[in-house]
Amino acid sequence: MSSAPTPTDLSAPDDSDGVPAFVDLGLRAELLGALAALGYEEPTPIQREAIPLLLSGRDLLGQAATGTGKTAAFALPLLQRMPQDRQGGDPVSLVLVPTRELAVQVSEAFHRYGKDLGARVLPIYGGQPIGRQLRALDLGVDVVVATPGRALDHIARGTLRLGSLATVVLDEADEMLDMGFAEDIEAILEHAPAQRQTVLFSATMPARIDGLARQHLTDPERIQIGREQPVAGETPRVRQSAYIVTRAHKPALLGRVLDVESPTAAIVFCRSREEVDRLTETMNGRGYRAEALHGGMSQEQRDRVMGRLRAGTADLLVATDVAARGLDVEQLTHVVNYDVPSAPESYVHRIGRVGRAGREGVAITLAEPREHRMLKTIERVTGQRITIDKIPTVADLRTRRLALTQAALRESLLEDDLDPFRVIVESLSDEFDLMEVALAAVKLAHEAALPGSDDEEEIPQVSVRPPREPRAGFDGRGGERRGGGRPRTGGTAQVFIGLGRRAGVRPQDLVGAITGETRVSGRDIGSIEIADRFSLVEVPQGVADEVIAGLRNSTIKGRKATVRRDRGVDGR
Ligand code: AMP
Repeated sequence: MSSAPTPTDLSAPDDSDGVPAFVDLGLRAELLGALAALGYEEPTPIQREAIPLLLSGRDLLGQAATGTGKTAAFALPLLQRMPQDRQGGDPVSLVLVPTRELAVQVSEAFHRYGKDLGARVLPIYGGQPIGRQLRALDLGVDVVVATPGRALDHIARGTLRLGSLATVVLDEADEMLDMGFAEDIEAILEHAPAQRQTVLFSATMPARIDGLARQHLTDPERIQIGREQPVAGETPRVRQSAYIVTRAHKPALLGRVLDVESPTAAIVFCRSREEVDRLTETMNGRGYRAEALHGGMSQEQRDRVMGRLRAGTADLLVATDVAARGLDVEQLTHVVNYDVPSAPESYVHRIGRVGRAGREGVAITLAEPREHRMLKTIERVTGQRITIDKIPTVADLRTRRLALTQAALRESLLEDDLDPFRVIVESLSDEFDLMEVALAAVKLAHEAALPGSDDEEEIPQVSVRPPREPRAGFDGRGGERRGGGRPRTGGTAQVFIGLGRRAGVRPQDLVGAITGETRVSGRDIGSIEIADRFSLVEVPQGVADEVIAGLRNSTIKGRKATVRRDRGVDGR
């Protein structure tokens, strides 16, 4: 089957599949402008469903993991419903999130989307000097994004007043419950007006989340992403794998994957136009021949790009979903998802670009650790396995490059055009051993075929968090011991903290301080014991030093504590 390079290969950016645009969701011009500037081409499935609903004022119970676009799904309607040009004043929206990291991310998202509306957004979380938060709250804010512990501190001080709240969002609610924030959330919601909109997003829907929703949401609409049943036979024959990688190392990993896989032609999918342009530039800078393809380009530009790919003068296409719809290029052997797609349908769509007409294709997804759950959802819906591969090391890369050189030499040996070079080998063989001559020739061939591509940087392997397990959380009676439900792998360490019950320390204070100050997630924290004058927290051996440094840097219940490794503990 051959595909002629005709313009009709590409459907125009917005005449495809009847997917509604952001403008169809009823968003105001300022927000549409911000989204266009960010290069978002179309709403993700969760946004399509949630935005109109939240604009109408309904309560929402949404099951969506990181990577689905859930933040914009609640941030955009909240911004739209915000009263204009408020001076001073208490917040009208409160977003509760489990970690400091997420508080910062969500605030940044609000800033980006709401810049033309002048939205005043404030993140508040433990570990940050409280003075700055007090001043900002005093000046008046529209949206507060907070971790529950710190929000409650401010409520108790009277510095965070919830009387004007129109909307409360519980983001990553399952994580918050896992981290022992249930009581704090209850206490916060008690301070919020009864006549409010409540939105709950959670990646999983265990019974406890249902309970929370039943108690605090009013006649909520339910939205679930990836609810579709497995569809047999629809997914093409494609080898599917994924790497777990931090955002910062993605460009290096993409380069490494391309080197190891050496695709005939590959398409790399990004979420937005902005990312397409940025990545194209980065990859060209790294010596790959990459071309951008997105909905902001004219038909003529797009045809030119496709022409270069078919002619083999480009080997990498960096594209958005919209731009790549309907695209059929015979040469394509590899699909790379630079981010986990926002829904399983999009994944199936993307990998459908290869593996057509009986050809074998390869699909590789680069996922950040937090997006791991989305991979699982995709696996469930497609009914196909996505194996998590180890990131190729520098040594793997060298081995692969040598194999390529060997293959090239073998090919050359099988051709009979070597005679012109005989004179060189013969004259050198007077002086050197034939083996030596061959080695030098291989070296030159190797370096000439892969010039300057020796990136020596090792890309760190990131571990995936174990899937959520039902775990003992709080005993609901303010119990002092929080059971660790996590399998003990790689040893644990016990951290001693010189503050205990007498200082009013509760397990959630310790969890909050640790997750607020370090990259450790609540799920990684094992048992917590609180004695009168000290506390002991069990953490994985590998992060103990980071936890100790983080806790030494912060305050717990407003006080500095002695923090050290506890002596005589398992795993050492
Ligand atoms: P979230 O699931 O909210 O963590 O969002 C995942 C990522 O997708 C974030 O980096 C967003 O900036 C991005 N994103 C959200 N919605 C869209 C969209 N409609 N188009 C492109 N990118 C998006």
